Amino acid sequence: MPAKTIIEPFRIKMVEPIHATTEVERKEYIRKAHYNLFLLNSDEVLIDFLTDSGTSAMSAEQWAGMMRGDESYAGARSWHRMREEIHDLTGYPHILPTHQGRAAERILYGYLGGSGKVFISNTHFDTTRANIEFTGATAIDCPHPSNADSAKYYPFKGDLDIEAAEKVIREYGSENVGALILTVTNNSGGGQPVSMHNARAVRDLCKKYGIRFILDACRIAENAYFIHEREEEFAEHDFREIAMEMFRLADGCIMSAKKDALVNIGGFLALKDKTLAEACQNLLIITEGFTTYGGLSGRDMEAIAQGLKEVFRADYLKYRIRSTTYLGEKLKDKGVPVIWPIGGHAVYLDAGKFYSHIPPEQFPGQALAVELYIKGGIRGVEIGSVMFGKTDEQGFHPAPKELVRLAIPRRVYTQSHIDYVIEIMDDIIAEKEKARGYRIVKEPPFLRHFSAHFEPL
Ligand SMILES: *Cc1c(COP(=O)(O)O)cnc(C)c1O
Repeated sequence: MPAKTIIEPFRIKMVEPIHATTEVERKEYIRKAHYNLFLLNSDEVLIDFLTDSGTSAMSAEQWAGMMRGDESYAGARSWHRMREEIHDLTGYPHILPTHQGRAAERILYGYLGGSGKVFISNTHFDTTRANIEFTGATAIDCPHPSNADSAKYYPFKGDLDIEAAEKVIREYGSENVGALILTVTNNSGGGQPVSMHNARAVRDLCKKYGIRFILDACRIAENAYFIHEREEEFAEHDFREIAMEMFRLADGCIMSAKKDALVNIGGFLALKDKTLAEACQNLLIITEGFTTYGGLSGRDMEAIAQGLKEVFRADYLKYRIRSTTYLGEKLKDKGVPVIWPIGGHAVYLDAGKFYSHIPPEQFPGQALAVELYIKGGIRGVEIGSVMFGKTDEQGFHPAPKELVRLAIPRRVYTQSHIDYVIEIMDDIIAEKEKARGYRIVKEPPFLRHFSAHFEPL
């Protein structure tokens, strides 16, 4: 019998209308937004693939939890529920709630960072890098060598290059390493999974040099799915057990609950070490809130506790990963270069290859992102030289790859939305040669992609 379609494992109880616009209207909207998709209004967008962060649809049980939220300033029931859920999952005794992932990063890396310090990661996510560099410290990426060839299959392209990391440790001295951060899945590296084998090797490396091992656990459920599928030892394991095993290896984690906790806002920092946790708690109180809410309302904490349970359900994870792969496979079949294999939360288009006539300093990724919007009202995000390129006295330094990320919100779009996106790609392919690059006319000093202004060339 042929395999059956993997269906959305939910039915829809509440709908939110989306807005159709014409190409003429969209050309005007994007011009007014200075060709930066972050500056568009959401009503001007039809299919929003800007991010999978904070864009999840919550379940009936999560909404029910919202009604039960205990809004007490200190020691709220909702805090205890969230704390217990995170403690059960991670095994870490010290848990600090934060309003989102980057608040946890600012606290932890603000404390561990400073000039002369270095942080090592499979790939630092943009807010991770910004929080580290803001303290004067250096952030060094050591992605697995398989990452260099975006089209070549490797089951765990998110892995950290252990040898490269060891070289960095030797060069800077282990006493200057603030932390080794393993990002699962590896967001900037293509949403690619990290193997348990690699996580164990990272643990051993950290033990050898007495370095702190921090998990950036934003998408640890999606990562667990890939381990289950691709790492023989775990073929019979439950997804949550796989995640727990990975948490056990590390000394702590930061998590943006806006990803795999299936909520619209929230995050946390969880640590094994008491002294470090106390130092972080002092910083938490200054900028986030008291230790039992950290900038979250009771109802947010209820939704996080429930979301962390739901995200490990087998039917959910199977649908989640399959629907992302479906989009990626169809685009690949049309000859669109994509990062292969397809990752967990997003499809990454290789705009550098697709628009090979546009050089990196003219931002081919930005050009493709703008085309997707003009042709179809689809909003993705450039992950290339706009985000990671730099210009200094020596000139222009491009990012390693010029990508456009189509991030899929969790439980939000149906297969027909996805099929529409696939159709729009035909129009873009037809006019590929006509596409032109962009130049930046205004930019801020940090995270310029959020607010830079562009002009078409
Ligand atoms: C989203 C994200 C963060 C930052 O979390 P926010 O909730 O957006 O502040 C950090 N690391 C990774 C890998 C992420 O995807």
